Amino acid sequence: MERRANANMVHERTFINQQPKPAPMISASATVYCPICTHTVPAEVLSRGRQVWVRPDQKCPRCSASLAPGKVLSLNRAA
Ligand SMILES: [Zn+2]
Repeated sequence: MERRANANMVHERTFINQQPKPAPMISASATVYCPICTHTVPAEVLSRGRQVWVRPDQKCPRCSASLAPGKVLSLNRAA
């Protein structure tokens, strides 16, 4: 009987340790819409979970404006 109780405690502890971790932040290449020249350009974006945003230190290769306010259109997530 005591053995069974111990096994249950171990099982519970294992379950607690397997709680999902917060999603890691990853960088990926993506297609970004530049609102200044209204073209889509390739850029690097940061992604964590479902959130995706343009890495703020990048400039549009067409008009040299900051891509920070650009919209991420499609994410080419690297494997
Ligand atoms: Zn631009």
